[in-house]
Parts: sequence; structure tokens; C-alpha cells
Amino acid sequence: MLSEALPYIQRFTGRRIVIKYGGAAMAHKSLQKAVFRDIALLSSVGVQPVVVHGGGPEINHWLSRLDIAAEFRDGLRVTSPETMDVVEMVLVGRVNKQIVNGLNQLGAGAVGLCGIDGELIKARPWGDGSHGLVGDVASVNPDVLEPLLSKGYVPVISSVASTPNGQSHNINADTVAGELAASLGAEKLILLTDTPGILRDQKDSSSLIRQLRLSEARELINQGIVNGGMTPKTKCCIRALAQGVAAAHIIDGRIPHALLLEVFTDSGIGTMLVGRS
Ligand code: ADP
Ligand code: MG
Repeated sequence: MLSEALPYIQRFTGRRIVIKYGGAAMAHKSLQKAVFRDIALLSSVGVQPVVVHGGGPEINHWLSRLDIAAEFRDGLRVTSPETMDVVEMVLVGRVNKQIVNGLNQLGAGAVGLCGIDGELIKARPWGDGSHGLVGDVASVNPDVLEPLLSKGYVPVISSVASTPNGQSHNINADTVAGELAASLGAEKLILLTDTPGILRDQKDSSSLIRQLRLSEARELINQGIVNGGMTPKTKCCIRALAQGVAAAHIIDGRIPHALLLEVFTDSGIGTMLVGRS
């Protein structure tokens, strides 16, 4: 695998790869360690990884400890001001720092941020506002990341951002990753999740779709073959590609070193979405 990696190392050195980290790869200690090693390795060979993370299970854990009910509608967390406080504390405080710490133990030079820092991301209320403090990305200004990236730091970003009036909102981490990839001119967007990729039949893991063009991806959403939590993933890939990101990948975070297999092998893994064939 190492010699197969050479052309990819040469191709991606100095380029940005945005990675959405979540799911099983975050929940299990050994997988977590493997992801941190992969990110540290990417960084040490000169690739510029940018990490965006979720943290749903950890948020649910703390909500239940505080006796606050978790409510989901349309696949989104209905976010009261009270829930938002917990989301912010857990994501920006605990989950973010845990990732930064883990990466730094491997010498990766990680720096934790959320959308509020340096006004990296501006939020707007999602939909008609009936989901509470759920946000969408209104705009991205990646200026704050440039000095970090040019000095080899690895930004680790929580998907919390505020509206122009200063109210924190909770944004889907896939959406944040896609918009960041676009605004950073990233080479790749990689979403780690708990399925092999996009499946034609969710019950059959051998029905993995290896490659998809934009038009085909839209079609899968319209047909309902892609639904639930896969919808924001597929949509954010489509948006990133439409804005110039060369390739977007939905890969299986349960496979140890999934990131390296995707970036550094000829066959890659998971589903690859491409703008033009
Ligand atoms: P994450 O925590 O990584 O964001 P989600 O649960 O939000 O994961 O999204 C992944 C889920 O999307 C899968 O577990 C599966 O239930 C669902 N899904 C919907 N359509 C598909 C599809 N066509 N192929 C694979 N998974 C799908
Ligand atoms: Mg999700």
C-alpha cells in the first residue's frame, strides 16, 4: 500500500481535504485512534486536512443527564435555547477538545474552532424557524483558517455558528463540511459514516454504488433511494461538487484506516461522487 500511495501523496501535498468525522469512527476508542493517526499522517505528508465533527450521541448523553428531552423532526434536532446551551457546551467544549487533544498527542498540531471563531461561518435559521435554534450555513469566510493551514496546523471545527444578531445555532455537520470544502477550494470532501457508502438497497451492503455523477445523485434523492441521514450527506456532496470540489466521498468509518484507504489507494472505498466524468 505504501508504494501505491506515492502518486497520491505527490498529488495531494499542499491540497486541502475536508473530513466530516462522526458515527462509529467517533464512538469506538480503537477506531477513534485510527482516525486520528490517519489525519496526523495526512498532515505529516503535507496534505492539509480540515476536520468537521458532529457529536449527536454525546449530546444525547448530556441532555439525558440534565433531564432535557431530545426531539428530532425531519432528521434534525429540534433545538430549544436550553438544548442549544448543551449542544454548545458538549460540541465546542468537550467533543472538540477531545479530538484536538487526541490529534495533538500524535503531533498533528490541531486547533479547535467553531463557526463563531473568526466569524468562520455565519448561520441563518433553518427553514421557517420551527425547529428552534437549528441553523443553515448563510456564508463562510475561511480567512481565519488560512494562517493555520499555511503553518501546518489542523483545524478541527464544531458545527455551531451564530446569526448576525449573535444567537448561536446548531448546524448539521455534513452541511458545514460541504460548505467549507467549497469555500476552501478543497480537493476532496470525505464524509465518514456507518454504512459502506450509498447503497441501492439499504438492506444489502453488496449493493454499494461505487461512483455517481451529480445528475445521478439527484435522481437517487428524488427516487427516495437516498433518504434519512443520507439525504444531507448526498446534498452537501452535490453542493460541494457544483461549487468546484473535485470529488466527494461517503465512506465507511467502521473500517479501520478508511481515510487512508480512500486517499492513498487506487481502488479507494465507499461511494465517490464526481462533478464531471
Ligand atoms: P451520520 O451519523 O454519519 O451522520 P446518519 O445516520 O445521519 O449518519 O446517516 C446515515 C444513514 O442514512 C444510514 O445509517 C442509513 O440508515 C441511512 N440511509 C438512507 N438512505 C441510504 C442509502 N441509500 N444508502 C445507505 N444509507 C442510507
Ligand atoms: Mg447525520
